[in-house]
Amino acid sequence: MPVLQSYIAGQWFGETAAKALPSAINGETIAHTHEETIDFAQAVEYGRNTGVKSLLALDFQQRAAILKELAIYIQGRKEELYEISHHTGCTRPDSWIDIDGGFGTLFTYASTGRKELPSGNVAHEGPVAQLGKNNHFNGTHILVPRRGVCVHINAFNFPIWGMLEKFAPAFLAGMPCIVKPATATSYVTEAAVRVINDSGLLPEGALQLIIGGTGDLLDRLEEQDFVTFTGSANTALKLKGHPNIMARSIPFNAEADSLNSAIMAPDVTPEDEEFDIFAKEVVKEMTAKAGQKCTAIRRVLVPADHLDALTDKIKERLSRITAGDPKEEGVRMGALSSADQLRDVNEAIDRLLETSECVFGKDGSFKPVGQGVENGAFIAPHLLVSRDPLKDGGAHDIEAFGPVATLMPYNGIEEALTIAAKGKGSLVTTLTTKDPAIAAQMIPVLAAQHGRLQILDAEASKESTGHGSPLPMLKHGGPGRAGGGEELGGIRAVHHYLQRTAIQGSPTMVAAVTREYVRGAKVIENDVHPFRRHFDDLQVGESLLTHRRTVTEADIVNFGCLSGDHFYMHFDDIAARKTQFGQRIAHGYFVLSAAAGLFVYPGEGPVLANYGLDTLRFITPVAPGDTIRARLTCKRKIDQGRTSPEGHPQGVVMWDVEVTNQEDELVASYDILTLVAKRQ
Ligand code: NDP
Repeated sequence: MPVLQSYIAGQWFGETAAKALPSAINGETIAHTHEETIDFAQAVEYGRNTGVKSLLALDFQQRAAILKELAIYIQGRKEELYEISHHTGCTRPDSWIDIDGGFGTLFTYASTGRKELPSGNVAHEGPVAQLGKNNHFNGTHILVPRRGVCVHINAFNFPIWGMLEKFAPAFLAGMPCIVKPATATSYVTEAAVRVINDSGLLPEGALQLIIGGTGDLLDRLEEQDFVTFTGSANTALKLKGHPNIMARSIPFNAEADSLNSAIMAPDVTPEDEEFDIFAKEVVKEMTAKAGQKCTAIRRVLVPADHLDALTDKIKERLSRITAGDPKEEGVRMGALSSADQLRDVNEAIDRLLETSECVFGKDGSFKPVGQGVENGAFIAPHLLVSRDPLKDGGAHDIEAFGPVATLMPYNGIEEALTIAAKGKGSLVTTLTTKDPAIAAQMIPVLAAQHGRLQILDAEASKESTGHGSPLPMLKHGGPGRAGGGEELGGIRAVHHYLQRTAIQGSPTMVAAVTREYVRGAKVIENDVHPFRRHFDDLQVGESLLTHRRTVTEADIVNFGCLSGDHFYMHFDDIAARKTQFGQRIAHGYFVLSAAAGLFVYPGEGPVLANYGLDTLRFITPVAPGDTIRARLTCKRKIDQGRTSPEGHPQGVVMWDVEVTNQEDELVASYDILTLVAKRQ
């Protein structure tokens, strides 16, 4: 049997077998942890020096590009991982969540980084605040990579997704990761890290792997480091309270077990399509990954009148689920991930039965299929009913981390909300209702206690990604008992690994630091029109102040006829006089078009396309007789490594545009986005 190895300081490490790790399907040993002790001083030193250095030799955009390549590479080798994942008790759809969900998260973060992060390693989080009357002193925020290591301590249930969903935002941010998977399923994580290493895509020191315990690692962490944790609330509490983590204010993000609910609203009756949809969702969440998901539905709130009907419906669906070795035909539910988990889940069910009764799962008819399954970690789905859910304790406190859910009858919306809140903060709740007014009433109350809320009706169910699926672009994490953390959520998750710092100074200094033109900063003016400069040559701050144009009555009439916009403000003198402007004014879009006419260089050149405007505001009205001019300034350059369809490299340039009138008042302000060709 193989001995799993840690990957520390760029070397695979560990030869001697220690703890045997059994297959969840048949109990046979499939790997051993290693006995040798890891030198954690070396691991953190290597991360902080080699890792940080090699990651910061790249910028946000380059790291985003690597994430995409890595996702493609893992995707190409995913079948090897499916083969290993099977031993954790997973069916193919279960493994899909872990494996495809894992590299899918890399794809999403690659795209998030590309779209939302700049070139370089300083992210500017505006807006810039003018702090002095005459714009000599500004303030804004920047986000920069922390110069430390991330320690990611993961749970057993998602050995690949759990690693990659934390690695992706940390890597994008520029922090090296030391990953510690749960020992029970660490053989899957080890296999994935070997695949990642084979890709040769990651810079040196970006990823280290611990097989086994963390030893003195947490004692060795420093102020710039970061810890994330997924697992039980007890361990979260213990690690969060670690004296070194507390003393050095090391950020600690926890995602702990959560007693998620699903609520069938009072408007849903057994005749409705939503009734079936709700029952199906509950059964799906009970049986996917044999209920071993932090997001699984544990408490099922149902209007008291419909308790019996819903119980029958869920029982009927559960009775159709075949459990066993996922390699057997027709198996829809696999095993728990280990014999330890089986013991824990059985104990939790016994404790739940002190306040509830079992209506499915205890009649002895459960027979998993497949060879050797009697030594596997299989358990029947258990459906319980708690008749007095307004009482604390029971299913509001005890998490059976398996295919177990408790039905809770309620009377009226207020009672449902009270019962849901007894989970003391959860990752997710699904509310099934047909009535938008009920959703509008209940969701804001539930939101205070949850990280994510799914509203599931017949329409949404056609495309729902499911109650239990955290999505990379949406927040994953919940308040209170759920750990109080936030793992995913698009760019927000990247920001966790970046230090946010306020900076103050003159506009020129702020522009130099943010690498973004700030109004009031010194501009660069020369004889070459900025639209004639290739991406490589153009500098942030290059600027053009145009000639002037006096707006006439004819402009307004012509623009109105051309566009078909005959709004009274431009064409009805009597009505316009009654408005706050006291006269007819030019169309805002005319001002925008006229400004383009002023600043655009008409000849062929490296500016290839204008693909949008941001932050457009019309500030001062323009009337016939007013004279306008524009200032066009290169605001930001982003090198996303793009090429044109013909293969010519290009970059994104954002231009700041200020349109002013004869009094130097700002009449329009916006950013233009263009694609600009590189020289080669
Ligand atoms: P634990 O909290 O025991 O373990 C989670 C992770 O923490 C594992 O990697 C574990 O490593 C590690 N760990 C445990 N103790 C320490 C320590 N003192 N120092 C450093 N690392 C430590 O959870 P389990 O995996 O045992 O699962 C127990 C329960 O947690 C489940 O039954 C379920 O209720 C809940 N859970 C919640 C999840 C969620 O996503 N919210 C996911 C999985 C479980 P090792 O495996 O080596 O002990």
